[in-house]
Amino acid sequence: MTQYHPLTEQEAIEYAKSIPGLFQADAALSSREIGDGNLNLVFHISDPAAGTSIILKQALPYAKVVGESWPLSLDRSRIESEALQIEGELCPDLVPRVYRYDTILALTVMEDLSDHIIMRKGLIERRVYPRFAGDIGRFLARTLFHTSDLGMNQQAKKLRLQQFINPDLCKITEDLIFDHPYTNADTNNFDEAIQDEAEALWNDQELHLEVARLRQGFLTNAQALLHGDLHTGSIFVTEHSTKVIDPEFAYYGPMGFDIGAVLANLLLNFAGQEGWSPDNASRSEYRRYLLQTVKDVWATFEREFRSLWNEGCVDRISRTPGFQDEYVRQLLRDTFGYAGCKMVRRIVGLAHVADIDTIAEPAAKERAQRLSLAIGKALIKHHRNAASIDELIDIAVKAA
Ligand code: ADP
Ligand code: MG
Ligand code: MG
Ligand code: MG
Repeated sequence: MTQYHPLTEQEAIEYAKSIPGLFQADAALSSREIGDGNLNLVFHISDPAAGTSIILKQALPYAKVVGESWPLSLDRSRIESEALQIEGELCPDLVPRVYRYDTILALTVMEDLSDHIIMRKGLIERRVYPRFAGDIGRFLARTLFHTSDLGMNQQAKKLRLQQFINPDLCKITEDLIFDHPYTNADTNNFDEAIQDEAEALWNDQELHLEVARLRQGFLTNAQALLHGDLHTGSIFVTEHSTKVIDPEFAYYGPMGFDIGAVLANLLLNFAGQEGWSPDNASRSEYRRYLLQTVKDVWATFEREFRSLWNEGCVDRISRTPGFQDEYVRQLLRDTFGYAGCKMVRRIVGLAHVADIDTIAEPAAKERAQRLSLAIGKALIKHHRNAASIDELIDIAVKAA
């Protein structure tokens, strides 16, 4: 196959068979496309007799948005596979193994994680994941530290930065997260019931100034190699394991954007408990678990990040006493701000989350939407003054 074209299920089988070492030559393979088909094809290919399987993910040259096509470079498939490999070197237990990347077909062959479930689904089912906070805190600390000027040679970092120029996917973020929700844009997508909330967002100049600052950070602060799309739909979990997938938005940006993405999605589920918890007592209990998870993610991140810094900061000037505290404090501020932006866009912007959107009862859904916006706006407005993760917890508790 020498020319790019989207594979059929049958072609995906032939492709998998052509890779040495994955399947027996005479295996009877089955193939199923399991992606949602908006940006990428995801084929699950298995040999039911041998009990072996792989995933084959292929990028499409466009995204389907509101009935129209939005052209997207196939280069994001290279970026995804290269980011997975870097993450795999830093945290081998926390990402799928990559078996093969094909430039021409924009396709990555990787480990099948079907024994895990997508975390967003697990949280909607109100399950508890005891390993998650520690695992994701470690993932954040290690991937962010070791790809930054603190953890790698600064000339090597500049070359790596060049490897991850990702303009098309950054534009999606710049437009859909940091622009459209704050104006009456065609791509916005919200329920009529919260028209008042949308208009309030469009007219809130204090909020716009804070979002402008955060957007500027996203555009210019090439601090570390980010995952770039670290929501709970990009995380596979079991009680005993955590795996991060789908880093096609990877680029050099502000660390707080990835940390904020994780916390925002825990908070969106917190808001969604308006619809998922059967009664007040269980709602309070599950919300306590979510907020404890938020705290533990930040605490693990901070502990691991500081210890990597103390043990292996490659930059002499950055080891100046006082600088680490200042740096971590700024990360916390960015985390608040980006978490807020990620919550707001999921309620009024183009792409929503199932934690809120699949709530059947309209009144509960509306309460969850208003609660998400209240928390999101408060985080954005408070972000430059944030001094402790407890303030984020307070914001959520007071809004609920
Ligand atoms: P997209 O970029 O289109 O969102 P994802 O990488 O998030 O693609 O994959 C979409 C879906 O495909 C996931 O939600 C999951 O159900 C399935 N999937 C992706 N990667 C794997 C994997 N390694 N193992 C099992 N299922 C996977
Ligand atoms: Mg998808
Ligand atoms: Mg995805
Ligand atoms: Mg994706």
